[in-house]
Amino acid sequence: MGMSTVQSHPNIITTTADWVFSWARRSSLWWLQFGLACCAIEMISSAMPRFDLAERFGMLYRASPRQADLMIVAGTVTKKMAPVVRQLYDQMADPKWVISMGSCANVGGPFDTYAVVQGVDQVIPVDIYVPGCPPVPEALYYGVLELQNRIIRYERLKQRYGLEAAEADRQEQREAARAALGPRSSGAR
Ligand code: SF4
Repeated sequence: MGMSTVQSHPNIITTTADWVFSWARRSSLWWLQFGLACCAIEMISSAMPRFDLAERFGMLYRASPRQADLMIVAGTVTKKMAPVVRQLYDQMADPKWVISMGSCANVGGPFDTYAVVQGVDQVIPVDIYVPGCPPVPEALYYGVLELQNRIIRYERLKQRYGLEAAEADRQEQREAARAALGPRSSGAR
């Protein structure tokens, strides 16, 4: 139960419409359906019956960025693909969220070359980084749970202090997550 809910009777809970909307928003993320390389296979297996990621989190794959509010970047981001990733991100509905899945999307992975972007955060802002090559479905689960916590925090800040404060906090969180990845290659080879 959220901080803003009150239970005055065993069967009655009172809360705010804002709390209900933020709960609904974080519990029904619509996920843009695309993958870039081998990590995408692990992402797909996360959604299959054994792990059932989408069903458990009320998530839905959408084929159109205009109907999606979550992008999972799963795989190697080449410099040729980077403008397309940016365009898809720009077309998504606000507020939108990004999970970078796997070493390639996080920092370029084993591809320290002139053709690979050394981290998708050079192209779009990233909220959560999931490490691994490839990350197992459980790791992606953990990433989604962490993202849900971020969304709750963002919505609470927005309600209490306004959009600017929520965005500033979100930017701080992104920078802290990015710094935790450590130094990365220039990709000049
Ligand atoms: S991190 Fe590993 S599994 Fe994922 S796309 Fe890169 S090479 Fe493939």
